[in-house]
Amino acid sequence: MPVYDYRVHPEHEGCAFCKDGFEMMRLLADPPLEYCPECHAPIIKIITAPALGRSKSMLDDRAKAAGFHKLTRVDQGAFEKLY
Ligand SMILES: [Zn+2]
Repeated sequence: MPVYDYRVHPEHEGCAFCKDGFEMMRLLADPPLEYCPECHAPIIKIITAPALGRSKSMLDDRAKAAGFHKLTRVDQGAFEKLY
């Protein structure tokens, strides 16, 4: 049975139950939970990405940034040879 993390919508204060987030076990057949069961404030589902995936995308960004700088330097080198 999947357990989902929810917390109150950022634009709402929520109550003691939902302001810091809560876990709710849901049946797949259940309709999506949209309101706090305690205070009925709108809630959002928290998508928790695995830490491994997050660090990988950070590495990708860093590699992309490094590649960009490298390309820029090559371009500058080519210009120096041309003129
Ligand atoms: Zn609440």
